Amino acid sequence: MSGSSAGSRAKAHTGLMPELPEVDALVHFLGSRIVGDFITRTDIGELSILKTADPPLEAISGLEISGVSRVGKALIIEFDGLDLVCRFARAGWLIWHEQVPTGPVRMGKGPLGLRIHLASGAGFDISEAGTKKNASVALVHDRAEVAAVAGAGPDALSIEDDQFAAVLKGSTARIKTVLEDQSLISGIGNAYSDEILHTAKLSPFAPANGVDAEALLEVIRGVLGAACEALNDLPPAKVKTAKKRGLRVHGRTGQTCPVCGSTIAEVSYADKSLQYCPGCQTGGKKLSDRRMDRLLK
Ligand SMILES: [Zn+2]
Repeated sequence: MSGSSAGSRAKAHTGLMPELPEVDALVHFLGSRIVGDFITRTDIGELSILKTADPPLEAISGLEISGVSRVGKALIIEFDGLDLVCRFARAGWLIWHEQVPTGPVRMGKGPLGLRIHLASGAGFDISEAGTKKNASVALVHDRAEVAAVAGAGPDALSIEDDQFAAVLKGSTARIKTVLEDQSLISGIGNAYSDEILHTAKLSPFAPANGVDAEALLEVIRGVLGAACEALNDLPPAKVKTAKKRGLRVHGRTGQTCPVCGSTIAEVSYADKSLQYCPGCQTGGKKLSDRRMDRLLK
């Protein structure tokens, strides 16, 4: 099995799920545009995106947006006494309209999940390009009513040194798995965990409790901080491309490591893959790829 065929197969399922820096970019972009504006109308394009029924979505029509914030990878549009919690899953994103289309929305056709109309004439969509519709919107009195928000661990950009040390010390799981566990530390997904481990020169399969927490946390802050800085002034339509451009190993199977010149390798799972540099991270050794092994038998 050649490396190039593994790489081309990987492309099909290397989804760039929005992570902390991308959602942070949305918070910055929307914060200066929609806070103080009023919702005039909401359109649903995909019924399954709305996870709550009480209060009804119409309850936000006429309300002033009082804030925009983020918990981990979730975006929160705030009203006085209500939170609209938007989660993007693998293929969801936000589309901004300087002039929001006012025509009727065709239900169940295309990527549109929810369209929000603002009094200013602008608006935005929560959309999802994938065939699996996993993006979600919940209208709640308090964000803590959303299990994923209530159960989110400390934010990856603000977790304290001792908190992070305790997270690692308490787990024998692979460090890659721990970094992506939103209940332990929130905001990091598949792409940035690959980038963080590459910068830290750690194998994704290293047991968490053997990792130098202080050094790794410094790398987390560096990688996410740099990504936030690169994305923060961009409109939503440009964020994903800019993210991709900034990645050094994730999604780059078969390419050359910019640090050591080795060929970037991957491990594939049923629905995703991770990338790493054998030269920087695993002493030149290839990690076992169970899916590839199975195909070779
Ligand atoms: Zn390398």
